[in-house]
Amino acid sequence: MFEIEYEDEKSEARAGTLTVNNRIFETPGFLPVATKADVKLISPDELQEIGASGVITNALVLFLRPGLEVVEAAGDIHKFMSWDGIVFSDSGGFQMLNSDFLVKVTEELVTFKSPFTGSILDFSPELCVEIQMRLGSDIAMVLDDCPSYGSSYDDILASTKRTLFWAKRFRDSHKNQSQEVFGIVQGGVFKDLRDNCAESLVKMDFDGYAIGGLCIGEPKDVMHEVIQKTTPLLPPQKPRYLMGVGSPEDMLKAISCGVDIFDSVFPTRNARHNTVYTKNGKVNLGKEKFNSDIGPIDEGCKCYTCSKFSLSYVNHLLREYEYFGMRLATIHNLHFLVNLMKEAREAILEGRFEGFKGEFLQNYKF
Ligand SMILES: [Zn+2]
Repeated sequence: MFEIEYEDEKSEARAGTLTVNNRIFETPGFLPVATKADVKLISPDELQEIGASGVITNALVLFLRPGLEVVEAAGDIHKFMSWDGIVFSDSGGFQMLNSDFLVKVTEELVTFKSPFTGSILDFSPELCVEIQMRLGSDIAMVLDDCPSYGSSYDDILASTKRTLFWAKRFRDSHKNQSQEVFGIVQGGVFKDLRDNCAESLVKMDFDGYAIGGLCIGEPKDVMHEVIQKTTPLLPPQKPRYLMGVGSPEDMLKAISCGVDIFDSVFPTRNARHNTVYTKNGKVNLGKEKFNSDIGPIDEGCKCYTCSKFSLSYVNHLLREYEYFGMRLATIHNLHFLVNLMKEAREAILEGRFEGFKGEFLQNYKF
């Protein structure tokens, strides 16, 4: 169930609450990525302390390892990973972009190769439904065909038709009342294909709608144009989820267009490669100039890392490739994005979102 609490008057931004199985996710909100049922280097207790209330895991990856029986033996995905916040499960459609996984795609199904064992797997929308129902995630994502950026119009046309055909099959075979299902709009960077995909998905009446296939190499202005033109086609009373976009500036701009939910591996991956977000922009913490800086990573940040440790300490650990340094940087980055969404939400509720966004973007160098 999705309730909109307040709609901004100067933009399409809105503040809402998504409730599934008594689990609450306030929007705008950010989902840390837990592909293998963990957010890399971070415990569920730390996630909670950071303020995160949802994660997204990956149905295909968990199906391959450890396998559904192992998760079911624990009860469900929440119990398996000891996380009682909302769990979204991604379908595996995004893995079609990864040559380690993809073997071939036909109208009926996609054939994957397990990067773990090399075994071949025919992955249909029906199997994708079964996996996500058995995982017991709160929100299942349909199996979509995610084409790579730069594909021809004809290829994207065929891919979008496949996405719709699979979405219908997914919808028809889904029987779990306690799990919501979100459709995913594809269509590359072609407006008519995105429009057609969005309109056809809306007719199938999903619980929410995602915009997929972005942030995969297209120029930023093209990405923003797609978001701006797609969101008005999605029903205003349903949640809107922009998949895979996790740069602060992109998220704030998307909120202005009416996007509610985000996920991205950027904050965790960047942290493991020394890059952190600060209110003045991205910073490479591994640089020598920080080795005697006794201030925090980001002045004013209330995260565990910034409350307890100096920039010089984190810099030292990262330069020594110490896992604890990567953990501290990850905690800060996740806190930064989760907190940015909370601040955006407060600004929307208080009718000052555009001012908040303008001020943030003025300080944030990217
Ligand atoms: Zn911090």
